[in-house]
Amino acid sequence: MRPYDSQNIFAKILRGEIPAKTYGETAHSLAFHDIAPQAPVHLLVIPKGAYVDLADFSARASAEEIVDFHRFCAAICEGLNLTAQGFRAIANAGLHGGQEVPHFHLHLLGGAPLGPMLSRR
Ligand code: 5GP
Repeated sequence: MRPYDSQNIFAKILRGEIPAKTYGETAHSLAFHDIAPQAPVHLLVIPKGAYVDLADFSARASAEEIVDFHRFCAAICEGLNLTAQGFRAIANAGLHGGQEVPHFHLHLLGGAPLGPMLSRR
């Protein structure tokens, strides 16, 4: 597992060192709007703990953190009415996954048809 870099952008957002347009938060999770939205709704949901990616979070986070994160995602989807029309959740990881920010985050995208999952090069 890659070591966690505490200077990553989302760690700075969590520490309040750089601003973000917050959607909501829970005891263990934070949701904010992506700075470069790829859909009418494009939120990033992150744990407040220091986890590099989905595998790291799933392996090391407490049950409380994991439940908090997923229930928060469910509440966001309900709150933004994403469940009725559908949405996409993406967790990029590492080099092959194209992860830019090495703090685990789930992209929640919706509000319009999103097209195919991957475009082939
Ligand atoms: P990744 O490629 O790591 O899965 O996605 C990182 C996402 O973070 C990108 O969609 C990018 O637009 C977003 N992002 C990068 N820097 C910032 C920032 O400073 N603030 C916010 N709100 N989003 C950011």
